Amino acid sequence: MAASTLPKPPPPSTSLHVAVIGAGAAGLVAARELRREGHSVVVYERESQVGGTWIYMAETEPDPLGLDPDRAVVHSSLYRSLRTNLPREAMGFRDYPFVARPDWSGDPRRYPGHAEVLAYLKGFAREFGIEEMVRFEREVLKVGLLEANDDSKWRVKSRNKRNGDEEDEVFGAVVVCNGHFTEPRVAEIPGIDAWPGKQIHSHNYRIPEPFKDQVCPRLGLLYKKQVVVLIGNSASGMDISRDIALVAKDVHVTIRSSKGVTLGKQPGFSNMWLHPMIESVHEDGAVIFADGTSTYADVIFHCTGYKYHFPFLETNGIVSVDDNRVGPLYKHVFPPALAPWLSFVGLPFKATPFPQFELQSKWIAGALSGRIALSSPKEMMEGVGNFYAELEAAGIPKRHTHDQFGTQFLYNDWLADQCGIPGFEEWRKEMYIASFRRMLARPETYRDEWEENDLVSRAYEDFARFTT
Ligand code: FAD
Repeated sequence: MAASTLPKPPPPSTSLHVAVIGAGAAGLVAARELRREGHSVVVYERESQVGGTWIYMAETEPDPLGLDPDRAVVHSSLYRSLRTNLPREAMGFRDYPFVARPDWSGDPRRYPGHAEVLAYLKGFAREFGIEEMVRFEREVLKVGLLEANDDSKWRVKSRNKRNGDEEDEVFGAVVVCNGHFTEPRVAEIPGIDAWPGKQIHSHNYRIPEPFKDQVCPRLGLLYKKQVVVLIGNSASGMDISRDIALVAKDVHVTIRSSKGVTLGKQPGFSNMWLHPMIESVHEDGAVIFADGTSTYADVIFHCTGYKYHFPFLETNGIVSVDDNRVGPLYKHVFPPALAPWLSFVGLPFKATPFPQFELQSKWIAGALSGRIALSSPKEMMEGVGNFYAELEAAGIPKRHTHDQFGTQFLYNDWLADQCGIPGFEEWRKEMYIASFRRMLARPETYRDEWEENDLVSRAYEDFARFTT
């Protein structure tokens, strides 16, 4: 494949030594864009390979809810059956299309399994020579601000996981790409302390087998098929409830908003129900739902999302996480007081991650070199204040600050405009919307049915610029 055919940026005026934290999709594309812009880049990655979330890890954490701050952290939250929830054409980086290739894992489906995504990211890293910038098995312990002025400096302390050696290095800028699907958010449930069942968060779910009869050849039946109450009906909740329903006795899915859905027994299943939220749980194992219905359950399964978590970041209080709002951040990327020397790639959710990471990374790289002008810190801070005020006026809670449902395309086009490149392709936007509608309408089959062939043709016409 030919490398990008996008126009080359003009020579940068400033070249910085930049630390990128994480070699998942965000860190990989950030590293590429920073180097293209002329910066020298070190990527810190605590695993031994690139890919982040897309490295399937069969092991789980010892604490199934992930509440213990001292637990041994397993980064990925992938389950074995996971297939993408976006069509591959829409999901890939803009100048390195995610088209099926025989040298990857060989899963040509439009919504491939997770191994194909990992293979794609490895292909991307190879194509652009990114691995040579990565320090593998290096965990960042601390990112500290040395001086906050016109030429901020950062000290990055890291530990070599192989021999425990610690190392300090000074950088002119830091780009945080550590992902945000590792630190579980757990639902608060009245009565949970006395409830006798088990609890798990989707972060620690891999396979459905533990939810079926567990029979020991010597001792006989150890556990009966489980009755599971699963909280949440987002992409993971939808997938996991269906995974488990194949083997468990009953699955009761609770949802926050029942707008547009029918509660009760779910069509196509003999053992799955939709309920409103849990009202309380009790010592005898009962789970009472908000509409007064109830069940006795063995397991409460939290598919309740994740917390932003930057245990290494010390900014003297300039950046903090408050009710899952990382702020203050201008356009989800720059803390105004530290721009452009500290930035974040990949915070928004309910968006199209990879191509958005690409745009954010181009913006950061250009801002650091001085090629792209940023507003003044005061103007950026006003922008942040206005954004927060709009959210508040619309009744949107802080924890949805980075939720881009319905707003990502405007945001992406704004970023592209800052970078002086075309916005998101129309086919990509239409594909995202078509896919989302299909997922809601036909969660069982949407991955294997696709009728919008004109969108696919338009995507491949576009890809020809990069694949020939
Ligand atoms: P990650 O992939 O999480 O990478 C972060 C990296 O940082 C990791 O490699 C980690 O080891 C490293 N790291 C963290 N802390 C440190 C440290 N202190 N020192 C050194 N290294 C560190 N997106 C899609 O586009 N399509 C999908 O179908 C899709 N499905 C998903 C399903 C699930 C279950 C989940 C959890 C996410 C899904 N996503 C999907 C979103 C996915 O997270 C993004 O696509 C993307 O992979 C995130 O990339 P990232 O680089 O931001 O984070």
